[in-house]
Amino acid sequence: MKARTKLQRRIYSMSQRLSPISEKQKEWAFRHCFHHYGRRIRKGTVSCLECGHEWLDRSIGPGPCVCPHCGWTIEIVETRKRRFQREKTYFCILTTCGGYQVIRIFDTFASRCVGHKALYGCNEVVQLWITPDGKVISIARMRPILSMYLDRWDYASDLEVRPNRMSYDINPEFIYPWKQVIPAIKRNGFRGDLHGCSPLSLFLALLNDCRAETLFKAGQFPMFTHEIRSQVCSDERYWPSVRICMRRGYLIQDASMWCDYIDLLRYFNKDILSARYVCPENLQSEHDRLERKKRELLRKEDLQRKMQQAQAAEEQFRELKSRFFGISFADGTIRVRVLQSVAEHLLEGELMHHCVFTNNYYARPESLILTAQIGEQHIETIEVSLETFQIVQSRGVCNRPTAYHDRIISLVEQNMEQIRRCASA
Ligand SMILES: [Zn+2]
Repeated sequence: MKARTKLQRRIYSMSQRLSPISEKQKEWAFRHCFHHYGRRIRKGTVSCLECGHEWLDRSIGPGPCVCPHCGWTIEIVETRKRRFQREKTYFCILTTCGGYQVIRIFDTFASRCVGHKALYGCNEVVQLWITPDGKVISIARMRPILSMYLDRWDYASDLEVRPNRMSYDINPEFIYPWKQVIPAIKRNGFRGDLHGCSPLSLFLALLNDCRAETLFKAGQFPMFTHEIRSQVCSDERYWPSVRICMRRGYLIQDASMWCDYIDLLRYFNKDILSARYVCPENLQSEHDRLERKKRELLRKEDLQRKMQQAQAAEEQFRELKSRFFGISFADGTIRVRVLQSVAEHLLEGELMHHCVFTNNYYARPESLILTAQIGEQHIETIEVSLETFQIVQSRGVCNRPTAYHDRIISLVEQNMEQIRRCASA
């Protein structure tokens, strides 16, 4: 893409003059971005994969060791492999140019082969230029179109102005420790630590989001990163409570849990402007306590709703099924009987964790529901068709079959005549 706007053109020309990565920076990157290895084979030959030196030492085992030739500390691995997989990582330099913040991202690699000096290299793939008022211009290489690998770059393409895309917001594993930042970012609180955020998201939050900036300056870093990810402070849902925490010097350590907790407080009509509630000593236990309470309450409310529903349906149910009331038979251990109210369907559904109530079996003219019990214990729930006088289903807790299933089926079949008689009465 060609630089179109005045700003794009200015930044592109400055980018052309930006000095390439220095030898010192490269050296730092190669040393710190990768582990350094030595290889040992069973016979005792040790090969330094940094300088290629080989020597014999039967006493060296797996673990760190210093190469007698290059002096690097290398990690000894025992393997017969001669060629090692190429390692890749992103290395980043934070610098400034002409009053702009520049984030330079280098695709950095290491390849190693026994008997050779390790080969390191890096390619600059992205430059993100940020203006003091929080605008971004991306200068980047091309990503191969239709690549399955998001991490590929087309090195033959030039660093050019490209539309701002999420894929340039890279969170590099390694950042050059000598960082340069523009005054606006420093003024808004940046002291060098990125707190796990990508440089772009952190700088933009500090420049564009004044609530994020406030959080950052107050040292509320978990909430700051949460704000970057989910913009939770953009409205008034949590912000007034967050401010109370800041005023109290209370550090919100787990931001998403804390927001959940505020929602729970609100649910229970607690004062979310009171430090007593919003600054809990033990967030986890308070959060869990309220969550349990809410779940219990919802369960009760649900049951109440179902009971009302049952009450309303009772009369119609009697009309449909009362002629079957009293049907009951047993084989000495198991007793099977007809459910005689909608409330009983509700109870059966709750005890057996199945849908006999929620799916309104009580209102279906063509089906009759029976329960099989041993003493007080509910074993299975049986549906009989009033059209065919066959057993449609018989199910235990959570719809699982039970050890008594076959006995229950044959017991009901033996007594089907009772049901048939009541139906035609
Ligand atoms: Zn060496």
